[in-house]
Amino acid sequence: MTAAQISPPLTIAIVGAGMAGLACANALAERGATVSVFDKGRGPGGRMSTKRLNQEQLDLGAQAFTARDPAFQEALARWISAGLAARWPTISYQASPNGWQLQHDPHARFTGVPRMSAITRHLADTFQAHERSTLKLATRIEALKRLSDGWQLIDTAGNTFGPYQQVVFTTPPPQTLPLVADWDSTLAKACRQRLQRGCWAAWAILERPLPVPPGARQDWHMARADHPALRLVSRNHTKPGREHQPESLSLMAQLDWSDRYLEHDPQTIADDLWAAFQSLYPPGTPLPARIASGAHRWRYAQPAEADDRRYLYSDSGLAMCGDSFTASRVESAWCSGTLLAHALVDRSV
Ligand SMILES: Cc1cc2nc3c(=O)[nH]c(=O)nc-3n(C[C@H](O)[C@H](O)[C@H](O)COP(=O)(O)OP(=O)(O)OC[C@H]3O[C@@H](n4cnc5c(N)ncnc54)[C@H](O)[C@@H]3O)c2cc1C
Repeated sequence: MTAAQISPPLTIAIVGAGMAGLACANALAERGATVSVFDKGRGPGGRMSTKRLNQEQLDLGAQAFTARDPAFQEALARWISAGLAARWPTISYQASPNGWQLQHDPHARFTGVPRMSAITRHLADTFQAHERSTLKLATRIEALKRLSDGWQLIDTAGNTFGPYQQVVFTTPPPQTLPLVADWDSTLAKACRQRLQRGCWAAWAILERPLPVPPGARQDWHMARADHPALRLVSRNHTKPGREHQPESLSLMAQLDWSDRYLEHDPQTIADDLWAAFQSLYPPGTPLPARIASGAHRWRYAQPAEADDRRYLYSDSGLAMCGDSFTASRVESAWCSGTLLAHALVDRSV
């Protein structure tokens, strides 16, 4: 049975082209809504973004994701068939200066092929294939205005968009709050309740392969670190579709450490996290030199606490979804955006 279409078409603006915004946009466009998505970034993806250097692709946000929800599993199966996602990692360790222990992960994890952002790029393309669907990048929405026939969005250059019957915010709550505070006390309260933690993500490209860590295999993929600064190391060149890359690491910082050094200079952070990684090898082990390195600050990396709601909308015509509902996971963001889309369509058919 085909899902009911909206008639006349609902006009919806979505602020944010990360996983939640793009999942929401696709589900709405499939049901006949006219959808416009806005993102301040130069590309879609948000926290699933990938840094691209010459040959190298370095995931700066999500490294690998689970698929526990049946609807998300179906979407993932389509991405795998299209060559956009694959299972990774299979060889994970718990790493400390005292040794590395092989970890059994009860959940299969997946990554984008050949980069995490391949999935969000695909979602952006499929959504724009629908008639009247548009994605505007490099457009930071800074204000809303209520008109007699809907909501108008205003960007930092003073351009206006709309009116729209519905506006969906997928931006992290601290970024949503200034947009909704004057218009919707329910959404504003939800934003104030959802505190976000920051996280530094460093990266390094090495001149040759790493030596084998103590007690580990040469071909390890990912390691969770017992270290006050470093939380997780992932080897980008072991991800599917990146076999041609030189040794290239993503180094995720601990959240408490990130909070303390959030305003520090990125190169100092990159050096500190590299030193933390070196300390996971026995003292004096020579590691290859870094050819290039850097760090990206995620000021709003993840919610401070999990929530049991999936999305929020109110009678004002404003709504919120994204990973600040449920948990900080790719899968949660997709589920949140998709479920909100279905709820908005169902109340308007
Ligand atoms: C360092 C790090 C590691 C992670 N690791 C994992 C992992 O291994 N596995 C996993 O499942 N999840 C992981 N996550 C979490 C996962 O990346 C997120 O849960 C998910 O990508 C969030 O998607 P979203 O659409 O809710 O938000 P986002 O991806 O943040 O999308 C919001 C979008 O809004 C845009 N925006 C913000 N303000 C404005 C504005 N005013 N106007 C226009 N656009 C705006 C932003 O540019 C952004 O693109 C990680 C996250 C981080 C930061």
